[in-house]
Parts: sequence; C-alpha cells; structure tokens
Amino acid sequence: MALGAGYSSKSSPLETGLHKNGRRLTPQRTKVLDLFQAIGCGNHLSAEEVHAHLIQSKARVSLATIYRTLRLLVKIGFLHELELSEGCHRFELLSKDHPDHHHLVCINCGRTEEFESDQVVVAGRKAAENQGFKLIESTLNVRAICPNCL
Ligand SMILES: [Zn+2]
Ligand SMILES: [Zn+2]
Repeated sequence: MALGAGYSSKSSPLETGLHKNGRRLTPQRTKVLDLFQAIGCGNHLSAEEVHAHLIQSKARVSLATIYRTLRLLVKIGFLHELELSEGCHRFELLSKDHPDHHHLVCINCGRTEEFESDQVVVAGRKAAENQGFKLIESTLNVRAICPNCL
C-alpha cells in the first residue's frame, strides 16, 4: 500500500524497532515476538494462548511473565493490544502492511474477525481534526455473537 499523506506515520516496529530495541529484548521477549511473527498479522492471541504456545515449545515461563512481556512489547511498539470485550485482552502484531482495521468479536467465545472500513477511519480523522487532536489510530471494535454461539 502506498503511504497516503495524512495518515499518521506509525513507524513499523519490524523495520525500526527490532535493531534499535534489540538489546531490550530478552530471550523470553524474543520468543513471544517470534510467535507473533510466525502466526502473522491478522491473528489475535490472548495472554493465555501465548502462554500455551510457549509451554508447548518447551519454554518454561509463567503466565505472569507473559503478561509483563506482552505489555512491554505493546509499549515499545511491536504489538497492538485490543480490549475486545470486558476483561478480554488480545494482542496482535503491529505492522505497516496491516493498516487500520476493525474487529468483529464474539463476546461468548472470543472469535475475532477483521474488517476494513474507510468510513470509520475518515470519521475518526474528522473528529480529531475538529477538536484539534492529533490522530493516532481510528479503529472500531464491534461486539457481537457469532453463528456458532447463537
Ligand atoms: Zn486485528
Ligand atoms: Zn462465538
């Protein structure tokens, strides 16, 4: 995608952060990041799922450490944190190739689908401009019940 003027320039963590922040990445943090890079964009994992994956690959790490690691990776710009329903936080890879997108989430089972809507992005930008805010992101989380749970 060509970089449209007017979009906030979120620098890609994969291009800039990994080397600059490399020394801040302990083996555990790298493992968590590797997992997200392996599953790719568009996948949304809870801390419990990340933990389960790492345990499967024989990493000895506590859920509390995973929580801390995820928060840190959000802070330094590798991951994006979503609060999709009350108390349900999921994390996804932050990437320039995967621009502003929105989430349709089942409040029962947590199934998450992505969709794109220029209207939401435009509405967010307008609202920000009207109030003199600098836009960071404009995303919509739609809470719903999936066909399986209906
Ligand atoms: Zn997403
Ligand atoms: Zn469901």
